[in-house]
Amino acid sequence: MTKRLLFLFLAIVVAIGVLTACGNSGKDPGNSSSSPSGSEAGGEEAGQEKDQASASEGGVVNLYTSRHYDSDQALYDLFTEQTGIAVNVVQGESDELIERLKREGESTQADLFITADAGNLYRGKESGLFQAVESEELFNNIPEKLRDVDNQWFGLTKRARVIVYDKERVDPAQLSTYEDLADERWKGKVLIRSSENIYNISLLASFIAINGEEKAKEWAQGIVNNMAQPPQGGDRDQAKAVAAGIGDVAIMNTYYLGTMLNSADPEEVKVAESLGVFFPNQETTGTHINISGIALTKHAKNKEAAIKFMEFLSGPEAQKQFAEGNYEYPANPSVEPADVLKSWGEFKEQEINLSLLGEYQADAIRIFNEVGWK
Ligand code: FE
Repeated sequence: MTKRLLFLFLAIVVAIGVLTACGNSGKDPGNSSSSPSGSEAGGEEAGQEKDQASASEGGVVNLYTSRHYDSDQALYDLFTEQTGIAVNVVQGESDELIERLKREGESTQADLFITADAGNLYRGKESGLFQAVESEELFNNIPEKLRDVDNQWFGLTKRARVIVYDKERVDPAQLSTYEDLADERWKGKVLIRSSENIYNISLLASFIAINGEEKAKEWAQGIVNNMAQPPQGGDRDQAKAVAAGIGDVAIMNTYYLGTMLNSADPEEVKVAESLGVFFPNQETTGTHINISGIALTKHAKNKEAAIKFMEFLSGPEAQKQFAEGNYEYPANPSVEPADVLKSWGEFKEQEINLSLLGEYQADAIRIFNEVGWK
C-alpha cells in the first residue's frame, strides 16, 4: 500500500515536472523571482503540447541570459526541433543573473548562462559559478582567444569597439589609433561613456595587457582631458552626441550602429547615416574586440543537453542567426557576418586572449579612478 502511494506520488511529481518544464516558448521579462521552468509566458496551446512531447523525449535545458532578441528565441526553437530538447529561458540583467546564480547555489535550475562582455564572464567565473567544458566541437568552432583559458566560458558573438566620426567634420585620414585620440589636438572633441561601464573597463584592461599599466594610464588621462562633455548615457548616446555636434568622434561598439541603421525610429537612422566607422590601430595592435559568451553552470542538472546546446550555438547554422540578431560578428570564423558589417570592411583585431580583460579588470577600475574618469 505504501509502495503504491509512493508510486502515485512520484507519478504526479513527474507529470508536474513535464508540464512545467516545457511550453515556455516566450520570455521571462527579468522577474528575478520566477522559475526557469515556470510557464509564465504561456504560448499557443498546440505549441505547448508539441513541446511537452519533445521535452519528455529529449530532455530540457535551462538558460539564464542577458540577451533579449526575438531571433535568439527562433534559434532555441530550432534546437528543440532538431534535438527534442526543450529550452527554458530566463532573461535579466547580467549582474542580476550573476547574483541570482550565487544566491541559488547548488539548487539553481540554470544549466547555462549567456551574457555580454568577457569582463562579465570573468566575474561569473571568479564567483565559482561555472565549470569547464571539454568539447572538441567547441574547440574547433570557437577560436582560442575567444574562450576562457580554463574552458569555463566560450565566445559566441564578437563586437568591435571602434571610433565613430562625423562624416562632414572629420576626414578619416585624420584618424589612426585609440592612443591618438589622447593627443591634445582632439581636445573637447572626444565622446565616450562612463568608466563604470564594463565595455570601457574591458577596453582599458586590453590596453594594460598589451601596452602595460603606465601607457594605459596615460591614455585614460589623455581621453579625460579631451572629453567633449562629462561621460553620460550609453554607446548610442555618444553617436547621437557626435551627430548633434557636441563632439567629433566617439568610441563605441559596432552593433549599436547596426541597430540604429535598422531602427524603426527615422531619427536614429539619420544619426547613424551621418557617421562613419573607423577601425583603430590597424597598423599597430589591432581594434579592441569583445564577445557575448556562454558558460555551463557549476551545478547544471542537465549537463549533457547543455553541452549539446553550446555546441549547437557555436555551429555554422546557428552562428549566422545568433550574430545577426544583434549586428554582431560571428565568433566562428567559418561564418560570414551580416551585409551591414561587411560594408564596414574587414579589420585587424587585438590578438590577446579575452581572459585578460577579466584579469586586468581591477587595475583598469583603479586607473579610471586615479585619472578622474567618471
Ligand atoms: Fe551593449
